Amino acid sequence: MGRRILFLGPPGAGKGTQAKRLASVLGVPHISTGEMLRRAVELGTELGKKAEAIMAAGDLVPDGLVVAMVAERLAEDDARCGYLLDGFPRNAAQAAALDAEIGEGAMELAISIEVGADELMARLLGRAAELGRSDDNEETIGRRLQVYRDETEPLLDYYPAHSVDVVGVDGVGSIDEVFVRVVTALGDAS
Ligand code: ADP
Repeated sequence: MGRRILFLGPPGAGKGTQAKRLASVLGVPHISTGEMLRRAVELGTELGKKAEAIMAAGDLVPDGLVVAMVAERLAEDDARCGYLLDGFPRNAAQAAALDAEIGEGAMELAISIEVGADELMARLLGRAAELGRSDDNEETIGRRLQVYRDETEPLLDYYPAHSVDVVGVDGVGSIDEVFVRVVTALGDAS
């Protein structure tokens, strides 16, 4: 079994960029529920139709739908030798569902990318101005940050309570600088 790593961090922390890069170095699939859901919306699948308005509002897609989507993805061959999860689990119920699906060893280490509130808001508003994703607008950004604080941040306590270390990485700096910190944190933790 290869590495089983989870990336945590608020929207705008840059975790997708770092997660993708680390996954390619480790040779494990980068499994991003946000990307999978955006693809489902683009393709107009049943799941995409259910998720579209919820995502546009900055809310969480119902746990049952996301858990089923991830379980299916983790059952694919390439995930047998490890994976890097990005954007999932996003609340304690999803974390418990993952443990139930895969067993207690589902996760080996969580890396939390840390960026302060003011910097986050500036980055997200910058991304909104560039006309990126449809959920990158001012109202939705506030909602996504609130959902992060209410639902996802508690995972920073959930995982240590379930014997999974969470290592914090300072997410302020260039992509390369942050990546060096991520790799260092991973080395220190293993
Ligand atoms: P960000 O971290 O920048 O908010 P993501 O790409 O991870 O972006 O997610 C975008 C949106 O997709 C979320 O706001 C949410 O609506 C939906 N989503 C992604 N992952 C999950 C999940 N695990 N559970 C529920 N909804 C999710």
